[in-house]
Amino acid sequence: MRKKDDEIRVNHYFFAELKVMPKEIISNEGELRWIPEKELSRVPMPYSARQAIDHYLSLGHRTEDLYVGIKNGEGNILLTRELIHAMLSSGWQKRGGTHMPKANKNENFGYYSGWMVSKNTWIINFMDGSQNIYLLEGDQAAMLIDTGYGQGDLRAYVEKLTDKPVIVVNTHFHLDHYGGNAEWEKVYVADQWEKDATPGYQENDQNFPHPDYEKVVVGDGYEFDLGGRVIQVLRAKVAHCNSSLFFYDTENNMLFSGDEFESGQTLMFLGEPNSLKERLKNMRDNAERLYALCDEHTLVLPNHNGAPIAREYFLDYIGLVDSIFKGDAEIEDDLNHKYINQMPGHEKYCRVRYGGASIFADKEEVLQAAEA
Ligand SMILES: [Zn+2]
Repeated sequence: MRKKDDEIRVNHYFFAELKVMPKEIISNEGELRWIPEKELSRVPMPYSARQAIDHYLSLGHRTEDLYVGIKNGEGNILLTRELIHAMLSSGWQKRGGTHMPKANKNENFGYYSGWMVSKNTWIINFMDGSQNIYLLEGDQAAMLIDTGYGQGDLRAYVEKLTDKPVIVVNTHFHLDHYGGNAEWEKVYVADQWEKDATPGYQENDQNFPHPDYEKVVVGDGYEFDLGGRVIQVLRAKVAHCNSSLFFYDTENNMLFSGDEFESGQTLMFLGEPNSLKERLKNMRDNAERLYALCDEHTLVLPNHNGAPIAREYFLDYIGLVDSIFKGDAEIEDDLNHKYINQMPGHEKYCRVRYGGASIFADKEEVLQAAEA
């Protein structure tokens, strides 16, 4: 970005190895042609373009690090990736619309970006789009559904979106949903949350302002009144995990389905100690209950892989469970999943598909669940 006369100009430079070399292009913007690398130094160009190209040729093409260069009155300052993170985690990011993680956390999980899905409801997205957090605002209070992995400073990000007091709830107690809980003083959770907690999670909490935050257990029939917006709690039967809650926004006809039902795949290998067969029966019951609650206008909002999804997914999940019990399930050995494929022991899992519904489960258990 540079200032030329009274104009702010934004230039984009794109470095790549091309498999096909397009021919010269001539348009009313000028002439686009290929310049051999060694002739580049003789081509007139703006200072910022010269710096970007010189940096790329000397260092940039050998690293995947992100660099930022700023030219001030004295000359050029080049900042490394570490310095950028230090700036971002020192509050510099609070001016921006997105939020970068701190450098010492797993960088797979990306930054937060939020948008309004309807008035006073935000989807806060992270992990390259694969995970959602929700923020619902009423007249008196706001509700945050899940806290992700605890990347960066989620609370600061949320407080940019709302100035109402925030009630924090967890759809369930898996690390990618409760990781940032200790940024707040109190979080509403389901019973049996201890069964799903990652061992040593309290150590993670020490990184946050409220490591001893209060956990308030809520269940079926509990209601949160945000002021002109009531959120009902439904306790899920044990399927994806032991501690799932569904949240139903009665005013806005939105149903938050956590990880129990989602568009990509529901993970059904985490819910020990029950047998898969028992958990599949529970999944079917959950699907029937939620389907009955919905009409064709209900927005079903899961925590992973896209939102909203159609209520017809519940029917597909019912069909999926039935297909397993009947022994004619559509089983795929290849999971095709970036993260799960990195997990030790993933080879024994399979994908079962039915319409839009899909689960990952232990293949042997899937076959055993078929009724003789
Ligand atoms: Zn989960």
